[in-house]
Amino acid sequence: MKNITIIGGGVIGLCSAYYLQKEGHAITVVDRGEITDGCSFGNMGYMSPSHFIPLASPGIIAEGLKHMLSSSSPFYIKPRLNRDLMKWGYHFWKNSNATKVFRNAPHLNALLQLSRSLINEMRTEIGDVFEMEERGCLMLCKQQKTLDHEFHLADEAEKFGLQVDRLDAAQVQALEPAVELAIAGAVLFRDDCHFHPGLMMIALKKYLETKGVRFQLNTTVTGMEKTGNTVRAMITDTGRIAVDQVVLAAGSWLPVIAKMMGTHILLQPGKGYSYTYSYIENNIRYPAILVDGRCAVTPWGSMLRIGGTMELSGINNKVLVKRMQGIYESARNFYPGLKIDPPPADKIWNGLRPVTPDGLPYIGRLSKLSNVIIAGGHAMLGMSEGTGTGKLVSEIVDNKKNSIDISAFSAERY
Ligand SMILES: Cc1cc2nc3c(=O)[nH]c(=O)nc-3n(C[C@H](O)[C@H](O)[C@H](O)COP(=O)(O)OP(=O)(O)OC[C@H]3O[C@@H](n4cnc5c(N)ncnc54)[C@H](O)[C@@H]3O)c2cc1C
Repeated sequence: MKNITIIGGGVIGLCSAYYLQKEGHAITVVDRGEITDGCSFGNMGYMSPSHFIPLASPGIIAEGLKHMLSSSSPFYIKPRLNRDLMKWGYHFWKNSNATKVFRNAPHLNALLQLSRSLINEMRTEIGDVFEMEERGCLMLCKQQKTLDHEFHLADEAEKFGLQVDRLDAAQVQALEPAVELAIAGAVLFRDDCHFHPGLMMIALKKYLETKGVRFQLNTTVTGMEKTGNTVRAMITDTGRIAVDQVVLAAGSWLPVIAKMMGTHILLQPGKGYSYTYSYIENNIRYPAILVDGRCAVTPWGSMLRIGGTMELSGINNKVLVKRMQGIYESARNFYPGLKIDPPPADKIWNGLRPVTPDGLPYIGRLSKLSNVIIAGGHAMLGMSEGTGTGKLVSEIVDNKKNSIDISAFSAERY
C-alpha cells in the first residue's frame, strides 16, 4: 500500500482516486475548493469516442484568426505578449496539419475507447444516479458542405471501429419528433453516451468517501518542499502536508503547480460557457454538436444545457455575455422549434479547459521528479477520458503494464 496525495479533485483527480483505492492504496485528495463546481461540473457531459480528431487540426488557425475580433465568436485567442502563450501557439500551429492529426488521432482514440469501456462498471459501482444515456451523439450540420465533411469523418471513424449512421434532415427529424429542426443532416455516433457531469462528480466523491478516500478541501497548494528529485511535502494555506507519491491533476492550474516543483508544463486554459434550463416542456432527446454553429446541446430528461466556445484569454472567470448569446442564437437557429429564452447574464456558467498544444493529454511520470505523476491537459475531453486516465494512473503507480500505449502522452514532449 502506498500513500498517495492527489492535487485536484476534478474528474481526473477523482477517477485517479477511484482506480487507486481499488488497488488498496491510501488516498488523500487535496483541493482548494469544495469540489462542487468547476470545469468538471458545468460541461456538456459527453463521453465521446467520436472525438478522436484533436482541436489542433487543419483549418483551425484560419478560423481562429477569422473570429479574432468578434465578441460572439466560438473560438478566440486574446492577443497578448506572454511567453508561454506564444510557445503554446507555436506548437499548436505546428500540430494543426493532417500529418500530425493522423499521428495523434489513434492515441486519442485508444484513450477514448478505453474510457468508454470502463464507464459502465463505474456506473454500477457508484450508482446509476447521474442520468447516463447510451443513445449516441448527433453531429448536426446546417450546411451541405459541412455535412459532406462530417460524412468523410464518419468514414475515418468506421476505420477505428466506431458505429455511425449517416442521416438526412428527415431522418434526424424523426429522431426528434417534439422539436422542429432546420438542418441539412447529421451523423449519429452510436458509441457515444452522455451523463450529467455534476451528478457524476457528486456520486463519485460520495462513493470514494465510503471507500476511505480522505478529502482535504478548501486547501490551496502554494509551494513544495523537495530533496533532490523527490517532493517531500506540499505547502498549503492550511499547513504543511508530507507526501509519499503525488498525482498532479490540477486541470488548468497544472503549470502553476508544476512550477512550484521546478518543472514546466505547456498548457493554456480554454474558457467555455454553458447555461442549463431546468425544465423544457418539449425537449430534444439526443445530445448534439451543432457543427457549423460550433456549440453543443445536451438534454437530461426535461433539463437542457447549451454550451460551447473556446476562449484562450488566460486564467480568469470573466463572462462575456455576447459569447453565450452566440451559443443561444446557434441553438435557436438549428432548432427553431425549441422554446428557450436567452440565458440570464448572472446565471451563465464558465469553466477552464486545460488545453495542450496537440490535443493529447499529459499522463505519466516526470524524469526529473521521482515521485510525481502528471494527469491532465484533457482539454475538451476530460469527461470522455476520465475513467481511462484514472486506470492508467493506477497502473503507473503500481508499475504495471499499461492498458494502452502512453508514450504519446509524455508530459515532457514540449
Ligand atoms: C463548456 C465546456 C464543455 C465541455 N464539455 C465536455 C464534454 O461534453 N465532454 C468532455 O469529455 N469534456 C468536456 N469538457 C472538458 C472537461 O470539462 C474538462 O476536460 C475536465 O473537466 C478537466 O478536468 P480536470 O480534472 O483536469 O480539471 P478541473 O475539473 O479543472 O479540476 C482541477 C481541480 O484542481 C484544483 N486546483 C487547482 N489549483 C489548485 C491548487 N493550487 N491547490 C489545490 N487544488 C487546486 C481545482 O480547484 C479543481 O477542482 C467541457 C469543458 C467546457 C468548459
